[in-house]
Amino acid sequence: MANDKILVTRSSMPDFDEYVEEIRDIWDSRWLTNMGIKHQTLQKELCQYLKTENTELFTNGHMAIELSLAAFDLQGEVITTPFTFVSTTQAIVRNGLKPVFCDIDPVTYTMDPTKIEALITDKTCAILPVHVYGNICHVEEIEEIAKKHGLKVIYDAAHTFGVEYKGRGIGTYGDASCFSFHATKVFHTIEGGAVTYKDDIKDTFGTKLNYMKDFGICDEDNITEIGPNAKFNEFCAAMGLCNLRHVDGEIEKRRHVVERYRENLSGIPGITVNQPQKDVKPNYAYFPVIFNEEILGIDRNQIKDILAGHGINARKYFYPLTNSVACYKGQYDPEDTPVALQMSKRVLTLPLFADLALSDVDRICNIIKEAVK
Ligand SMILES: *Cc1c(COP(=O)(O)O)cnc(C)c1O
Repeated sequence: MANDKILVTRSSMPDFDEYVEEIRDIWDSRWLTNMGIKHQTLQKELCQYLKTENTELFTNGHMAIELSLAAFDLQGEVITTPFTFVSTTQAIVRNGLKPVFCDIDPVTYTMDPTKIEALITDKTCAILPVHVYGNICHVEEIEEIAKKHGLKVIYDAAHTFGVEYKGRGIGTYGDASCFSFHATKVFHTIEGGAVTYKDDIKDTFGTKLNYMKDFGICDEDNITEIGPNAKFNEFCAAMGLCNLRHVDGEIEKRRHVVERYRENLSGIPGITVNQPQKDVKPNYAYFPVIFNEEILGIDRNQIKDILAGHGINARKYFYPLTNSVACYKGQYDPEDTPVALQMSKRVLTLPLFADLALSDVDRICNIIKEAVK
């Protein structure tokens, strides 16, 4: 086994028979998509698990973000982070909104709340922060700023399924939170996503969001919104129902992996490992490590290559910054977000999934330790 390839992630799956049993009713009902029974059941169960009042399901996490922005009728500028998966920025731009990039704090990798207010103009309509790697944003500071300036807050919560802060589901912070249930995430439905929000905007935002994901159709005779198709199907819902039964166990297994990484890699000058956050119930989504080439004499890319030479797939996640990708060439300057720029050059996320053997974690860490000696 020692020389088998280790990928950076590996999807959790239920037993084959459990899934087959779950999809049996779909053959009876012949109801395959458009908010069927599996969809409704998963929706209810997710409200409980995520401790949220409302959870709407989508075909993927990206459409959850894109349609949330649309359903709030936003116009102008959105303050966001470049240290994210490109989906976040694409969702802003595809809504005709202008992203304004805020730098990150070097400990949590999330938006630095002390740098937000300087970016607010009379065109600013919203803040779109990202809970990165499972680390939560400075939600209280962000809420205060948003309140003071009358801005909406929409979180990209793709990495924070099941995370809680001070006993509250992370999806209850801000005006809306968008989760991804992509196959690579802690909880998945093959492809899928969700938006969570509170009851006080159910009739306005919630209603519009649901029309929007179904071509803007309001009822048989009325199409009131301009919308794409972002509906969630019954087979994906069935996968979600199965995975939700096991997700706590999966997170517990991830905890062991993360703790083993921390034991192995803590205290090495030039290496910084992701730390637990106070008052947060974590989900151990990713394990980012920062390699400081000035101290180590070897850089992130070289370490990535050495690991690859041993069949171990680590990822430059997030690199490049979204304010430096080719489709936005010349529009933004990554030097405006220097902390994010430096982190993007130094970070590697190491393999992390529930079934990763602790002996493999040790092997990965030994290769790294040898490389930086
Ligand atoms: C996965 C992810 C998305 C997009 O979700 P999909 O379900 O793949 O569409 C958006 N933002 C972040 C930070 C992600 O990791």
